[in-house]
Amino acid sequence: MVKTRELYYEDQYMSCFDSEVISCEEGGDGSFYVVLERTAFFPEQGGQSSDTGIIERRDKSKVRVLHTSIQDGIITHRTDGALTPGETVHGEIDFEHRFSNMQQHTGEHIFSGIVRSRLGYENVGFHLSDSEVTMDYSGPISESEIKEIELIVNRAIWENVPVRCWFPSDEELANMDYRSKKELSGDIRIVTIEGYDVCACCAPHVRRSGEIGLLKVIKTSSNKGGVRVSILCGKRALEYLDSQQKLISNLIGLLTTGQDKIYESVKRLIGENAALRGDLSSLRRELIDYELENIDETLSDVFLVKEDGLDGNIMKSIVNKLSEKHGGYCGVFSGSDDKGYRYMVVSGGDNRDAGNIQQILSDEYSARGGGKPNMIQGSLPSVNIADVIEKIRVKTGQ
Ligand SMILES: [Zn+2]
Repeated sequence: MVKTRELYYEDQYMSCFDSEVISCEEGGDGSFYVVLERTAFFPEQGGQSSDTGIIERRDKSKVRVLHTSIQDGIITHRTDGALTPGETVHGEIDFEHRFSNMQQHTGEHIFSGIVRSRLGYENVGFHLSDSEVTMDYSGPISESEIKEIELIVNRAIWENVPVRCWFPSDEELANMDYRSKKELSGDIRIVTIEGYDVCACCAPHVRRSGEIGLLKVIKTSSNKGGVRVSILCGKRALEYLDSQQKLISNLIGLLTTGQDKIYESVKRLIGENAALRGDLSSLRRELIDYELENIDETLSDVFLVKEDGLDGNIMKSIVNKLSEKHGGYCGVFSGSDDKGYRYMVVSGGDNRDAGNIQQILSDEYSARGGGKPNMIQGSLPSVNIADVIEKIRVKTGQ
């Protein structure tokens, strides 16, 4: 098959085009694989997501282009409808999506060019999807260096320098210093951003740096001895700032404070919350002590059912205190019938084997747990706890 004519190399701003259908094959899942004689749909490659859009037939019926890929120079469009080989169709790419990709990608070039000229690191990975734009560099970059580079990139954007995409001759190429991610063969396409970067790249870019609008670094993380930098350009940067602004104004409303006091307010709330938790825990202990003092001392076995959220230390102190006065099994269940229970059971002065209780809970109620003859602990799935305690009383027979 003849290679597809790549219209995005003739004009990266071309959003509509006419073409002839070369072939259309069923994908088996309701989708179709369509090859056109020429296309403006840029295929997924070099870490960049593909163009999407529609293809319209003569009778104005449309199929959607869900994805575009390239192999051996042949571009395939995955569509949600069939087209007829030989027919002339009209393609329209989702240009807002494409232009955004051009902005992100050109921003990445300037950033990577500056990283290389200032720090000597290579861009060893690039990912441009609808949810993120990340670049991986071969060495570590400090926070202050990131800030500096971010500013220089934005200066380059404000300078509105030309971005030139071209195919140099072998001779020109031999005398050129350019960035390249892999050993390239065939016609090498060079993207020159005047004063900032020269790089081999196959993707569409904006014509002048000013079209990028803005580049914002939103995250950095260490990555295989280097660093992964997440950026957003153009409208995506604006949308990000919008979401940040919304978050901040929600926090301001919630905390009834000024933007400059949000951090202090949240810090104070966290401190207050920790202090209240401490108070709650000691009040709980006091309440439990009071409850324990009022249990009939002549009882041999005692099983308490408490609300969810008792911590292990409180459960331990409950069963230990019970066992000082009651000779049989002393247990506590913390939880609810719906969500299940955590439990702890010790044997009092009569030295009965707590393992018997574990056996009942495991056999009859699918409990997970275990322990020693004098103490068991574990958890129960959702149960009727009154039935469980009744079953224990009947089975242990006292
Ligand atoms: Zn590129």
